[in-house]
Amino acid sequence: MLLKNNQFRRIKKLTGKAVGDFGLIENGDRIAVAVSGGKDSYALLHILEQLRRRAPIQYELIAVNVDAGFPGYRKDVLHGYLKECGFQVHMEATNCSQIIEEHRHPGSSYCAFCARLRRGVLYAVADRLGCNKVALGHHLDDFIETLLLNQFYSGKLAAMSPKMLADNKRHTVIRPLVYVEESDIVKLSDQNDFPIIDCGCPVMGEEDQNRQRMKRLLTELHKENHHVKRSMIRALSNVQPRYLLDRTVVRQLETVL
Ligand code: SF4
Repeated sequence: MLLKNNQFRRIKKLTGKAVGDFGLIENGDRIAVAVSGGKDSYALLHILEQLRRRAPIQYELIAVNVDAGFPGYRKDVLHGYLKECGFQVHMEATNCSQIIEEHRHPGSSYCAFCARLRRGVLYAVADRLGCNKVALGHHLDDFIETLLLNQFYSGKLAAMSPKMLADNKRHTVIRPLVYVEESDIVKLSDQNDFPIIDCGCPVMGEEDQNRQRMKRLLTELHKENHHVKRSMIRALSNVQPRYLLDRTVVRQLETVL
């Protein structure tokens, strides 16, 4: 299925730039694209497929869904849509929801536990399917929100990586939407009637209050200056270690001088 509109072309261009800038896709890759039924993963899958069709290299995409097992999750809607679009699809049923209920420590983050469990399943499925890469739908806003969260609450200067070796050392995780703003994905989703489904979990939309706070902060700043988000993402590729306080880096710089 071809998505054709200006929004799509814009996102495709930005994604293509990220693929080139960070060497995200190589000849012979077999990529498991994580799909949840949310707008970001639909956008990612469609864009990667369009890039694949015109790429001078060969690579394969498989849409992989990890169903956490929350009641009411309409994976049938997701599966039907992906098949209708002609994608290779793998649906993995799990009992993550039950494991969370039984083993989560009181007061600990529901989302963090859930994400960790599902990520583990995703890697295992990628292994079984013979995929060397896993593509995730994190976009520009996710990167800069994480940057702020780390600064404000974790005392570190870090965002996400567009390309990194997974903890299991077997897969490379890629995030091709790093340059794409969430608002563009929302428009793309609306224009193309992506069949968005809820995850059905008990904390949907309630967890991660701090991230919501970062979103509100960025929205406020964006009202005054429409370039704020772009400036922040540019800052991540324009690091000036001499003007930071990391003593390890400072010592390394001193040995170079
Ligand atoms: S919102 Fe729900 S499904 Fe998503 S990570 Fe959190 S607990 Fe899991």
